[in-house]
Amino acid sequence: MESPRILFVHAHPDDESLWTGGTIARVVDQGSVTSVITCTWAAGTHRHAELETALRILGVDSAWVLGYADAGFPESAPQAASLCESLFDDSVRRIAEQIRMIRPDVVVTYDAYGIYGHPDHIHTHRLTTAAVEAAACGPLYPEAGDAWQTRSLYMATVPTRVMRLIRHQVNAGAPVDGAATPGTPDAAIDLEIDVSPWVEKKWSAISAHGSEMRRSPALLELAALDVDRRNALLGVEWYLRRDLVPGGAALIRALDTQVEED
Ligand SMILES: [Zn+2]
Repeated sequence: MESPRILFVHAHPDDESLWTGGTIARVVDQGSVTSVITCTWAAGTHRHAELETALRILGVDSAWVLGYADAGFPESAPQAASLCESLFDDSVRRIAEQIRMIRPDVVVTYDAYGIYGHPDHIHTHRLTTAAVEAAACGPLYPEAGDAWQTRSLYMATVPTRVMRLIRHQVNAGAPVDGAATPGTPDAAIDLEIDVSPWVEKKWSAISAHGSEMRRSPALLELAALDVDRRNALLGVEWYLRRDLVPGGAALIRALDTQVEED
């Protein structure tokens, strides 16, 4: 099987490394051509420079920023609307245009709850799912290139049981009981990827986001964990899979020693 071309669409600089960094490093090693779109933080900002370093560490082939403002940080793109307040059609067209240019077999974004409920993540999920369909529809945005059919959409998620563990270990003091905890029930998860051989590269990429490492309480807690516990948390990544054509395209090529996906 040929290695699939893969496009990751993320909301903020650091999400590519935190939620999908092990997967990116792994699919780069399997020979996939990889691209990353980041919706917020304009080129020229310090977060964008950190993103470029992280992408280099992970081995990403090409990257684009849409340059919208991060919900909590207007300085992230002083001239632009915030991501959630931007014109929906405009953002969908811009992502569809990239999909038609990149021609990915697989597009990766977040689940419908943006993994844990961040409005920029939820919006990125909506934009990306709409853009994948729009890119495949020739009459829509004819000026944005020839239609392109993505074969499978993958959505990064975290099992509810792991979300509880993360909240307990990384966010000490947060409630860890049932109903309020986000995440996906185990039975609904389509793919669990062992990224433990790539976990050091993933941590280097996360750490390249130096300003977040100094600011974000969750990342500070993550950095303070002992290495074994941190590696255990970061060594697995989870996805929902939606095939858009019969058979779809597998994100991960099975290793010789373990079959993880058809
Ligand atoms: Zn984010």
